[in-house]
Amino acid sequence: MQALIAKLRPRRLRARLLAPVIVLVAAGSVGISLVEDIATHWQIKLLTEQKGSLVLQGILQRLQDRKKAKALFVELLAEEPNLATSIENKDTRQLTQLLLPLKIKLGIDFVKVYDDQQRNLLLLSNSGNNSPSSLIDDSLTGLTKISTFVSKEGLAVVASAPVKGVHGIAGVVIIGSLLNGEDLESYKGKDPVDLALFQDGSLANITSVQPEVMNLLKQSKFTLNQLEDINKILSKYNFHAVAQELDNGGLLLALISTQDLVSAANQRKTLELLGLMGLLMVLLLVELLLARDIAQPLESMVDTTQDIIHGNYNRLVPSSNIQELQELGKAINYLAKQLQVQISKLTYQAFHDPLTNLPNRPLFEDRLRRALVRAQRSPNTIAVLFLDLDGFKLINDSFGHKAGDRLLVLVSERLDSCLRDEDTLARLGGDEFTILLENIQDMEDATSVARRIAKQLELPFSLEDHEIFISASIGIAISTGDRSRPDDFLRDADAAMYAAKKNGKATHQVFNLNMASQARQQLLLEADLRRALERQEFRVYYQPVIHLDTGKIVEVEALVRWQHPLRGLVPPLDFIPLAEETGLIMPLGQWILEQACKQLRVWHLQYPSDPPLVVGVNLSAKQFQQSQLEDKIAAILQEQNLEPGSLKLEITESAILRNTDANLDLLRKLNDLGVQLAIDDFGTGFSALNYLKQFPVDTLKIDRGFVNGLGSNPEDTAIVHAIIAFAKALNLGITAEGIETANQLAILRELNCDRGQGYYFSKPLPSEAIDHLLASNQAVDSRFLA
Ligand code: C2E
Ligand code: CA
Ligand code: CA
Repeated sequence: MQALIAKLRPRRLRARLLAPVIVLVAAGSVGISLVEDIATHWQIKLLTEQKGSLVLQGILQRLQDRKKAKALFVELLAEEPNLATSIENKDTRQLTQLLLPLKIKLGIDFVKVYDDQQRNLLLLSNSGNNSPSSLIDDSLTGLTKISTFVSKEGLAVVASAPVKGVHGIAGVVIIGSLLNGEDLESYKGKDPVDLALFQDGSLANITSVQPEVMNLLKQSKFTLNQLEDINKILSKYNFHAVAQELDNGGLLLALISTQDLVSAANQRKTLELLGLMGLLMVLLLVELLLARDIAQPLESMVDTTQDIIHGNYNRLVPSSNIQELQELGKAINYLAKQLQVQISKLTYQAFHDPLTNLPNRPLFEDRLRRALVRAQRSPNTIAVLFLDLDGFKLINDSFGHKAGDRLLVLVSERLDSCLRDEDTLARLGGDEFTILLENIQDMEDATSVARRIAKQLELPFSLEDHEIFISASIGIAISTGDRSRPDDFLRDADAAMYAAKKNGKATHQVFNLNMASQARQQLLLEADLRRALERQEFRVYYQPVIHLDTGKIVEVEALVRWQHPLRGLVPPLDFIPLAEETGLIMPLGQWILEQACKQLRVWHLQYPSDPPLVVGVNLSAKQFQQSQLEDKIAAILQEQNLEPGSLKLEITESAILRNTDANLDLLRKLNDLGVQLAIDDFGTGFSALNYLKQFPVDTLKIDRGFVNGLGSNPEDTAIVHAIIAFAKALNLGITAEGIETANQLAILRELNCDRGQGYYFSKPLPSEAIDHLLASNQAVDSRFLA
């Protein structure tokens, strides 16, 4: 199993394509070469053996013919008249006379004559007169004998015959002729065959042959059994031997040269190998082309996808001449492009504010971090400006989010115009912007940027056909030795901004260590605020509202204070926003409402009047959005057994306008309940006056800012005029806030304003102090009467 897995392990495509072909061709070459060698060996053996035995058969045939001839000749000689007599007489001269002519005539090599005592009487010889003695014995018994034997001179064919006399066998005639090298040469014909004669294993005679082979044959004692072995050795010299046994221990060997066959075979093998090489080359070429066409594009696809994984999208897959790969490559390139676009889009989105396209907080912090690192290396000064728009919430609430967004974009463009290219402007969120100034000389450079920004923002913005004025509070933190983290920088610039806000908005403040403690105090305050409710540290003060015709207190406005154990009496503007932020406004508002209603119930019982005293309770925007607000209010009224009409809820213009549809619904429900509704701080918002017609409100409270300028500022005076006229037209009650002077009161009276409230009459007071005012005949002061 493991082996199988190992086999399936991925390998490179080129290797997969080329390796099998190379292995195949290599194995094929070796295989073919082996088969070729074996086939050649057998073919040569077969061919040479055929040839050898043919030659040998030819020679044997000739020998046979010679033997027959010799038998005839010897009998011819033996029957020669007077031969027997000559033998008996041992007449050598006569024997010679009788036999010599015949010898010459018949071409016999030698003639020998023996008497019956085996004594040699005559020898007529050219050469090779050896003959086996057994022939004489046999012929003396009356037989004619033919035989061959090998001698040093060659292969002899010998025949003997008895010579018959009158008294029986007189003697023996032997004739013989010799087949020497030359004769043998003539037998073998034109073929490249050599012949060797062995007698009792030793080489006796041989036709011309290579000296090495000659030496080999001379050295070995050769028998027929050893033919195989001899042939093995001979094959080295390109010879093959075929043997034929002769009479009397003789052996005839045909030595056939295999030179031609071997070289022919070699030639064929070379040709085949060459062909194979050619085939290999062609295969390799095909594979290389395949590798180029398939593997190369695939490899570059792998490279490209690897690059994509590592975030590099620049390497494209080159085009291929194989359609599928071409399409795949195109698809990869397309995907890479898309990915690049998407990722750069995502990266951009991750580090930019979608509304203004400015860097967001993470990017700003990153730039700040880098700037801090650079500043450590060189004596560069860095400044961070923290900018918060003043009163942006009001604009947002009055004109809606879309307009607010539009304003933020316009502001961001103005801010940008005040900066150098190398400065970074970012939007942290909401109406908060930060600016990073690098390479500045000193604090003066940073404050001058802040001044430049303030100047730019002074110009009006046109928003939905309105001219809007807005300002910003700017906190500045400049790099000093100990601030090394972006967080510290932002925190300090934020604290400085907070200080600027407190100092009266539209200003800038440079961070100092005091601010850090202020910021810390803010945090402590928040913690305190959370516990203040349980510790019952809140107090409700009441400010009288005077009917301007009668000078009597007809209403009181409930205003909350915080009796802080250390800080003393904390005014609502110092903690209401924090309470709103932390959500604490809900239980706090509920508590104030209960307190006010409880107190009103007491006053109703103590100081009954007609109409009964009204209490005004402020509701924050958050409270106003609370679900089932009307049920909670109804429950409190019922608990205190109060006329709903003696409760007046004060809601700011912007809170009403924030979520008009839902608000309208809630306002109607409250109206149905019978409670009165007042729009607080009227005139500071941007509500279209006509719009107000829809709201079931009872009272408009003119913001004290306008009342403040009454008589001295013509614009304020005109606005108060207009508001009162408008309220009258809509049949709404009207209360002027913040009356501080007799003059203001006089003008308001002249304008027929219903009610007034302000330090001129009374500051907000604890309930016991109000008791006294209500007790004294309900008239505040005769001064207030006309
Ligand atoms: P507001 O509803 O406009 O309340 C009137 C504010 O004007 C009070 O400030 C009051 O002390 C002040 N004021 C009255 N007459 C004069 C005057 O002649 N001259 C000057 N300069 N000021 C005068 P206060 O009590 O500090 O409250 C400030 C604001 O805090 C309130 O403005 C109201 O918006 C909010 N607030 C006060 N109490 C509560 C509360 O119980 N719940 C909620 N949600 N907000 C409250
Ligand atoms: Ca109020
Ligand atoms: Ca007010």
